[in-house]
Amino acid sequence: MNYQNLKEKYGTPLYIYDVDLMKDIICKYQNNFKSNQFETELIYASKALNIKAMLRLLMRYNLSLDVVSLGELYTAKMVGFPMEKIYFHGNNKSLEELTYAVKEAVGTIVVDNLMELELLHQITQELKKNVHIYIRLNVGVEAHTHKYIVTAHVDSKFGVLYQGKEYAEMLDLIKQSSYIHLQGFHSHIGSQIFDLAPYDATIKKLVEIIKTFDQPLDINLGGGFGTTYTDADHPIPYEEVSKHLVQTMENELMKQNAHLHKICIEPGRSIVAEAGQTLYTIGGIKQTPNKLYYFIDGGMTDNIRPALYQALYHAEIVGKENQFKNKIVTIAGKCCESGDIIIENILLPEAQRNDLLVTYSTGAYGYSMSSNYNKALTPAVVFVEDGKDELVVKRQSLAELIEREI
Ligand SMILES: *Cc1c(COP(=O)(O)O)cnc(C)c1O
Repeated sequence: MNYQNLKEKYGTPLYIYDVDLMKDIICKYQNNFKSNQFETELIYASKALNIKAMLRLLMRYNLSLDVVSLGELYTAKMVGFPMEKIYFHGNNKSLEELTYAVKEAVGTIVVDNLMELELLHQITQELKKNVHIYIRLNVGVEAHTHKYIVTAHVDSKFGVLYQGKEYAEMLDLIKQSSYIHLQGFHSHIGSQIFDLAPYDATIKKLVEIIKTFDQPLDINLGGGFGTTYTDADHPIPYEEVSKHLVQTMENELMKQNAHLHKICIEPGRSIVAEAGQTLYTIGGIKQTPNKLYYFIDGGMTDNIRPALYQALYHAEIVGKENQFKNKIVTIAGKCCESGDIIIENILLPEAQRNDLLVTYSTGAYGYSMSSNYNKALTPAVVFVEDGKDELVVKRQSLAELIEREI
């Protein structure tokens, strides 16, 4: 990557994506997530990075798409993403969002709870339109990652508990409705998971559930497959993840004498995280009694994850990758927040003002969680494919920053 060149062309901070790496990871999933006993479907969880260029890349590879808001759905519509390949998630979909999804014939609505189902019932009655749904279940499997990312404990805001009163009422309502068709069940057990055992437990549970139905249903296992942020992360290769899940499902179906129509997975982070890097320019350098700071021209506004989850990242100073690393440094952004830190205690060589600093594996939940705090301008996004760079999101301008203000 010619960082100097990219800086001159596009400025910093800059999100840079290695498209070839994303294609490679997509193929690792796609080529191995296959069965001759049931259908398989690879869905990209777009909240990790939902921009037009990314959605067009997925279309080239025939992936399906998971969206969680009207905004993500609208972006998909604007690039001509096939609506039947979209899964609409979310714990609190509004009337407006559900109406839009029904009118646009979104392929599958993943219904989170009874109230949402009731709303959907009203909408489909009024519009006289069919919808295919999954029910999001909380099967009680907990994946052990950082507690803020775990979603499947009993008091989770996501999904309904299997065998609860709410679940039974949902099944009743579906039976009454002539427009709502139950296609399967969904469970997403967490994020940045490095162990397949929780998925195996989920498969077992979900097979127990689908075998109580007459027709073969779908099982959507969600995403959450780990990625590499630093040397401490050792994710299971995605070929293996894919093969393992299919194999476990095949075994479980045989054991329980059950039938499945389709299995789906929804990786988000693992498809885009490692492909993304953020390029910054170092400005001030400050030595306090106990700390050495390198200040960068971005920070929590382009990468909130260290502040939000204590997420760890690796960085290098461009052109000084092989120099002796004799400084213990804190990389801090320019926001008026002491928590605006991208990396704490990283070993780096001595830096100078205007050196470029690159942070790695920033492709997931970076741009998509960016903010205008302190009225920082949202950085540009560049896709690099076959050695060619292409601007896919323009840097926000000062005029755009206040264009909606009256
Ligand atoms: C966030 C999310 C995903 C993707 O999770 P990753 O950790 O990015 O792979 C998949 N499915 C659902 C329902 C989600 O909420």
